[in-house]
Amino acid sequence: MIEALIVMLVLGCAMGLILYAAAVVFKVEVDERLEKVTEMLPGYNCGSCGHPGCSGLAAALVNGETDTVNCRPCKPERRAEIVDYLNSTPGPDGNTLKVKSI
Ligand code: SF4
Repeated sequence: MIEALIVMLVLGCAMGLILYAAAVVFKVEVDERLEKVTEMLPGYNCGSCGHPGCSGLAAALVNGETDTVNCRPCKPERRAEIVDYLNSTPGPDGNTLKVKSI
């Protein structure tokens, strides 16, 4: 009985260490700006910006694929907020973006 408990304890510790190592090795850096910009966009997912939904435009902005917040359903004040946020908030690499509004 004691041997079985010891074996289970050792196996549990070994599995925990393996999971910890996998979490460290395969850690994915998440750009928090992506979620924030997606929340700031209206969420209509109309596609008139030329991207597949609001998260598509947010991803294009954050990844530097476009430099224009061209969401026409957005009020100008909201577009300005997004521009200010992206131009002043550094990403994981420490750099900020240079975006503009339509
Ligand atoms: S135009 Fe605006 S509301 Fe429409 S999908 Fe693009 S970001 Fe979303």
